[in-house]
Amino acid sequence: MAIETYNPHTGRVLRRFTPFSWAKTERILDQAHRAAAKWQATPFAHRADVLRAAAALLRERQDDLARTMALEMGKPVTDGRAEVQKCAACCEFYAEHAEGFLADEVVKTDASRSFISYQPLGVVLAIMPWNFPLWQVVRFAAPALMAGNVGLLKHASNVPQCALALEKIFHDAGLPPACFRTLLIGSDLVEKLLSDDRVRAATLTGSEGAGASVAAIAGAHIKKTVLELGGSDAFIVLADADVALAAKTAAQARMINTGQSCIAAKRFIVEKPVIKDFISQMKTHLLAMRPGDPLDDATQYGPLARPDLADELTKQVNDSVEQGAKVELFGGQAKPGTALFRPMILSNIKPGQRAYEEELFGPVALVLEAKNADDAVRLANDSRFGLGAAIWTSDSKKGEALARQIESGAVFVNGLVKSMPELPFGGVKKSGYGRELSYLGIREFVNQKSVWIG
Ligand code: NAP
Repeated sequence: MAIETYNPHTGRVLRRFTPFSWAKTERILDQAHRAAAKWQATPFAHRADVLRAAAALLRERQDDLARTMALEMGKPVTDGRAEVQKCAACCEFYAEHAEGFLADEVVKTDASRSFISYQPLGVVLAIMPWNFPLWQVVRFAAPALMAGNVGLLKHASNVPQCALALEKIFHDAGLPPACFRTLLIGSDLVEKLLSDDRVRAATLTGSEGAGASVAAIAGAHIKKTVLELGGSDAFIVLADADVALAAKTAAQARMINTGQSCIAAKRFIVEKPVIKDFISQMKTHLLAMRPGDPLDDATQYGPLARPDLADELTKQVNDSVEQGAKVELFGGQAKPGTALFRPMILSNIKPGQRAYEEELFGPVALVLEAKNADDAVRLANDSRFGLGAAIWTSDSKKGEALARQIESGAVFVNGLVKSMPELPFGGVKKSGYGRELSYLGIREFVNQKSVWIG
């Protein structure tokens, strides 16, 4: 894929970049490898100062950053600013807590003293997607840098300017330049990087296919990976739920980032007595949302990030309808090759249909009817994915009990599924493995060393 800024709202290519050669990439890797030894020797307090300075710069540059995201992948500027704020808060969270999260842990054994010490690994390769072009990177970089690792970023080919802007922020914040570099490369150079002993580990956020490929190569070279992959999150509405609030939140949850979020609710599993009411209210909320130019503050949802993504989504919808799905809300693409995709609702979703089996990465809500709470859990778990889930019920004890039965990395009862620095984030099944955020995230890329003193 060409490394370029393509504006999905106007359909124009704004800027093209020449991909780095392997010679240049290798030079940067070598610098990163040498910088790692020095960076890991710096005190936590120094690293925290750098991360706090990065947070301040993120806030200072939020308008420019939001504009760059709008131009490169169609995110409305109001959402873009919120994403930047979230990144700043994440940098501050790890600046404050990293030292505590990585403090030696004394363990009683037959030794006079024994403990677990957490030590950085060195160069970590981060392969990231375009949908939250800053947040996906920061939620890796903030803990990794605080742990004393250094990062090489291979960002998605359609968000090069976001990648460069973030690199500049870390450098301007006082990070030695070699400790965080953006590599403007295609995925063809990833194998060479992963094969190099100077790369110690890798993290990938993206599709199942990319995850499987990176994990296979890393595995062949005995390297740890964290994979944050796709999802088809269930949003369960029981008959005793506050249907008005659930439907309002459902519309919001499906429309996060114009539906292009791994943890956007995708399958709405609703108990029969309230299903009609739920669909009708959700429809009203979806229709009230305003599409438009992502640069306009009044825009509530923009185009999909690229026209080919909208074409593929249309195909998934059409195939599913042919396979028996029923259209409850008409929307979609105005014509092939264009990126705007208006929200849709499909019902009568059954096994074997593409909508049942696959992730729909755009604003299409799938409604499934459940006979009762157990049936709702069964349907929720009948998915290859297991990232997030939501349960809506007026009985929070029942909600908690059901949450334990859901096969996913997170369950929110009566709330919108979101990521936050305090709680671990990640999936089970084909949604990946490993965790980001919280104290668990920062411990993914460290050597958990046992020290025994006789
Ligand atoms: P993608 O095509 O897999 O791309 C993600 C990144 O992987 C990009 O940097 C891409 O580079 C690179 N890549 C693709 N194929 C590769 C390969 N064979 N080897 C090495 N690198 C490769 O995913 P996407 O379409 O951008 O993102 C959508 C997917 O990501 C959805 O499935 C979504 O659910 C998932 N996602 C998951 C999370 C999570 O936290 N679990 C968060 C966000 C998104 P190029 O751009 O150069 O191809």
